[in-house]
Amino acid sequence: MPTTRRNFLKHSVVVTAIGGLDACATTATGADDDPPLNEVVFQRRVPVRHQVDVFVAGGGPAGVAAAVAAARQGASVFLAERNTCLGGMGTAGMLPVFMRFTDGVHMLAGGLGAEIHGRLKAGDGTGPDFDRTIRAEVLKRVYDDLLLEAKVPFQFQTDFIAVESDAGKVSSAVLAGKSGLFAVKARVFLDCTGDGDLAAWAGAPFEKGDEHGSLMPGTLCSLWTDVDWEAVYRDGRQRDDSRLEDAFRDKVFTLQDRHLPGMYRVGRHTGGGNIGHVFGLDGADERSITQALLNARKSLLEYERYYKKYLKGFEQMELVATAAQLGVRESRRIVGDYVLDLNDYKSRAVFADEIGRYNYPVDIHSAKPDLAGHKRFLKEFRTLKCGKGESYGIPYRSLVPRKLTNVLVAGRCISTDRYVQSSIRVMPGCFITGQAIGVAAAIASEQDCDTRSVPVPELQRRLKSMGAYLPNC
Ligand SMILES: Cc1cc2nc3c(=O)[nH]c(=O)nc-3n(C[C@H](O)[C@H](O)[C@H](O)COP(=O)(O)OP(=O)(O)OC[C@H]3O[C@@H](n4cnc5c(N)ncnc54)[C@H](O)[C@@H]3O)c2cc1C
Repeated sequence: MPTTRRNFLKHSVVVTAIGGLDACATTATGADDDPPLNEVVFQRRVPVRHQVDVFVAGGGPAGVAAAVAAARQGASVFLAERNTCLGGMGTAGMLPVFMRFTDGVHMLAGGLGAEIHGRLKAGDGTGPDFDRTIRAEVLKRVYDDLLLEAKVPFQFQTDFIAVESDAGKVSSAVLAGKSGLFAVKARVFLDCTGDGDLAAWAGAPFEKGDEHGSLMPGTLCSLWTDVDWEAVYRDGRQRDDSRLEDAFRDKVFTLQDRHLPGMYRVGRHTGGGNIGHVFGLDGADERSITQALLNARKSLLEYERYYKKYLKGFEQMELVATAAQLGVRESRRIVGDYVLDLNDYKSRAVFADEIGRYNYPVDIHSAKPDLAGHKRFLKEFRTLKCGKGESYGIPYRSLVPRKLTNVLVAGRCISTDRYVQSSIRVMPGCFITGQAIGVAAAIASEQDCDTRSVPVPELQRRLKSMGAYLPNC
């Protein structure tokens, strides 16, 4: 269709954004009043490029699972991803390993989680020693193929930047790409940004950090070559943190951070590093992210000295790359109709509306690099955990943001307290919640109902038929 002015006006939305990011929800009409001197009124008419059943913001583990699940249910979907690949922390973030998919007895991430892991293994995408390590380039292709096969249109280097909403109902998302701004209209909007950008900007309440607002530190993951893994393993591998006290004495480090997750073998001579913390990070603020990246890149020099001098097998190692995406463990937790909390974790809760179950330990990295914080982390990690065959339920209501009628969230930012966030945030957990909101969105779109009215038995029936672990319904 030729783009006449009339067509353009019909297929466009007016975007008005005032102020900073968390004030970025837009209005349809614009502001009439003069703005204060420290603000500008930004207004544009932008073309609507996609009109779909389901829009997905962010293509990490949660977003990929959501988009594929919705498309397999017959919904039309569009996904926008700011990185140059799908996969979020597992690819652009260079995370070297998936945490657990099972409880030792049952496959908890049944359905898409298990399928993704299976495809990664079949494509020689796991490391030589351990079948949950990740060769990121293979994982990127696994995700590409999944979306292509499900016929989900998607775009890289495309930022979701604003929403148009009225009375809790979002009508369009505004995106920024190299070619400029455009909009996507959808019936249901899925927030898989990890930070809850879409839900927060549409007006959902959220929480951040502990009672003082302190957040877990971030990590810039890294890739190293020339590791002699045979030497690392020859007499039993030393723990990565086993010589930290010596290094502190020798003044190798600026900070005395005792928590070192470590290096995983991801290739014949390569190691994927989840090493070093950046403290005081607010992952929902690009100014804080910028400072954290600068600090993280410098601190890796200290870790290089440490590994080379104190740990066997790493003497010749060389830094190949740091990740394109900074690792953010915690930012906004969107408040939903149910807040999943530590009591639910401890009681291995069962919910009538559960969409899956998970079981990773409580894993709250200390907000400060002090001894007391590290001791607290160790105590929680060792005691707040599930035994073999145990898990806690994840209710659908923890994916439904308060105040919004056609938005769902999945992944790192769902409605939990900090304890449960630190468990459910790992990638297999994000596959479970992503898959659930994809199916729920498809149902809401088919039945033309709001996300709160999705019939739970039908949602559970469809999830079960995909392989989700739902033993209680
Ligand atoms: C340092 C670190 C170590 C970890 N270690 C492990 C581990 O060993 N194993 C494990 O299983 N889990 C681990 N995790 C947890 C896990 O990786 C993340 O919590 C998980 O990836 C979250 O999935 P997600 O889809 O919610 O978010 P992400 O993986 O962050 O994906 C979100 C995606 O959305 C995109 N996006 C965000 N905002 C926008 C926007 N406005 N517009 C367009 N796109 C956007 C991002 O580019 C990204 O691709 C770790 C996390 C960190 C930070």
